[in-house]
Amino acid sequence: VDRSENMRRIRSKDSYRFRLHRHDLPGRPDMVFPARRKVIFVHGCFWHYHEGCKVAHLPKSNNHYWTPKLLKNSERDAIHRKTIRKLGWQYLVLWECETSNYKKVAQRVKKFLG
Ligand SMILES: [Zn+2]
Repeated sequence: VDRSENMRRIRSKDSYRFRLHRHDLPGRPDMVFPARRKVIFVHGCFWHYHEGCKVAHLPKSNNHYWTPKLLKNSERDAIHRKTIRKLGWQYLVLWECETSNYKKVAQRVKKFLG
């Protein structure tokens, strides 16, 4: 089951009100819950450089190209998270590799949304 299907299942099961990809928030969170002032990022492990993750391993070729690029992505994410907090929002980061476990993800989302 791919991650988008899992996220769809979460949406349909628990009918939280949220908006997709609000462009005025830093990092363009995947889900935005305006009433709760909460956002969820669903990060692809490779592009967002999930540290210690099997999926996120750096490509062996073109190392000089990929390493700085992916580290830059990861730094940018950190800045976005900080800015989100400064604006008075809370965030949850879900990694792609975690979304294969639907039950676990659903639990974390529920707990986060309160
Ligand atoms: Zn991962």
